[in-house]
Amino acid sequence: MKPDLSDLPGGKLYIGGEWRTGNGSRIRSVFSADQSLNREFSGASQQDGLDAIDAARHAQSDRDWLDLKPHQRASYLHAISDGIAANIDRIAFIQSRDTGKTLTEATALAQSAAATFRYFAAVCETSDEALTTPRGDYLTFSMHEPLGVVAAITPWNSPIASDAQKIAPALAAGNAVVLKPASWSPLVSLELARIIDKTGLPKGLFSVLPGSGREIGNLLVEHPDIAKVSFTGGTGTGREIARKAAEKLMPVSLELGGKSPTIVFDDADIDLAIAGILFGIFSSSGQSCIAGSRLFVQRNIFEQFVARLVEATERLKTGHPHEADTQVAPLVHVDHRREVETYVAVARQEGGRILTGGDRPSDANLQAGAYYLPTIIAGLDNRSRICREEIFGPVLVVLPFEDEADVIAQSNDNEYGLACGLWTSDFSKSWRVARAIRAGTVWINTFKQFSISTPFGGDKASGVGREKGRDGMRAYMRQKSLYQDVSGKPHPWARWPVS
Ligand code: NAD
Repeated sequence: MKPDLSDLPGGKLYIGGEWRTGNGSRIRSVFSADQSLNREFSGASQQDGLDAIDAARHAQSDRDWLDLKPHQRASYLHAISDGIAANIDRIAFIQSRDTGKTLTEATALAQSAAATFRYFAAVCETSDEALTTPRGDYLTFSMHEPLGVVAAITPWNSPIASDAQKIAPALAAGNAVVLKPASWSPLVSLELARIIDKTGLPKGLFSVLPGSGREIGNLLVEHPDIAKVSFTGGTGTGREIARKAAEKLMPVSLELGGKSPTIVFDDADIDLAIAGILFGIFSSSGQSCIAGSRLFVQRNIFEQFVARLVEATERLKTGHPHEADTQVAPLVHVDHRREVETYVAVARQEGGRILTGGDRPSDANLQAGAYYLPTIIAGLDNRSRICREEIFGPVLVVLPFEDEADVIAQSNDNEYGLACGLWTSDFSKSWRVARAIRAGTVWINTFKQFSISTPFGGDKASGVGREKGRDGMRAYMRQKSLYQDVSGKPHPWARWPVS
């Protein structure tokens, strides 16, 4: 049976293992394809937040939870993964209603969330502690312990995936998690709570607090019982969280913004490059931290390459997120579209030439939605505002470059360092350039591929720390060293007992 509006979570908050009506400011989740209301409800108040933290602290310090063996903790993660897998269509529908994403993309994200829990169940069961090399008459161990209560703060662009990326490793490590989703997309996190609740995970180990960043996000960051904040969102917010974390000497992981370069050398396979570039910038309507939003093309092929790219862009189907052939769905919210439009206006003022797009679609069926056409802009310098700042929409700037040295310098001349794409048939060159680019991830002859087993994170203003991969769970643990005497002899320094 196809999911329908009655499947959307009702708007109760999940706090300490109980469902309750929130006491905070109102939250409106709307479907950005037509502005219809998904749900309106009261978000978390300060007291709701304090209750969630308190329940988390109690649940996390309970010996029944702390003493679980890794394979026993892993069984909860398997159950969550199974619960997600059994509800893929429903989750995809909720996420699509919440964010405007296509059902195809929302389905893939739900599947990836199930895989994330399965992966960290495996990591949890198979991570060894180390017996270190002794340098005396003792055995030395390096052990890992959970941090305590972790706050996960997530953005609206891919909520189920970013939620899972934090919750799975944090629970696997033995922590409790308080999740604060973005106000525009609270529903899929509440659906995740319904699934987690059904697994019998001890109450309090997981809570969801939809609410404003200023109130609830801030409460979590500053609260003394929060042992770590794992944040994904904008660089400005990340900096603010890092400043407050420094005061508490609290570890943070920050997955922040990007302005990722894509580089096409004159020896590239042109069709491979065009397909990858289109996917890299226009899938998710450009609302992706890793969007390849600055395109550098070698000067001798610039004109002909850009002409073909424009032609391919104009063939993309902008349409309703529930139509199977839609490639470009609406933006998350009309307010966000306004920000994207402001950036395109700035580009025009700076002398940019709009090669395609730069407007809302004219299709009468799309007038009610937050749609924006895939847009390509030329004629701007890499130092222009459009090339420096993250737009987070379907807007690509194209720039020519001369040679390897020039493109490396231009690519790195940006405060962000999240990702990069390279298109060339020269293996040695791809390797050289990939190593010279300051970015957390470089894709060679592909773009925007993800694997839960490969670490992900940003360089420079794109973030601190890494998620995913086997070490992803360790990011939610503290190390402890144990020395165990094997000599049975008193320390000679004491000269005791007297013989
Ligand atoms: P945002 O920074 O506005 O909000 C992110 C989350 O932080 C939300 O839940 C918000 O309510 C909360 N928040 C806001 N102010 C806060 C505060 N003062 N204290 C604590 N929490 C606060 O970002 P957004 O607009 O929701 O998301 C878009 C941004 O996220 C883009 O910059 C994008 O690049 C970035 N992003 C990064 C990654 C990555 O992995 N690097 C992934 C996805 C999105």
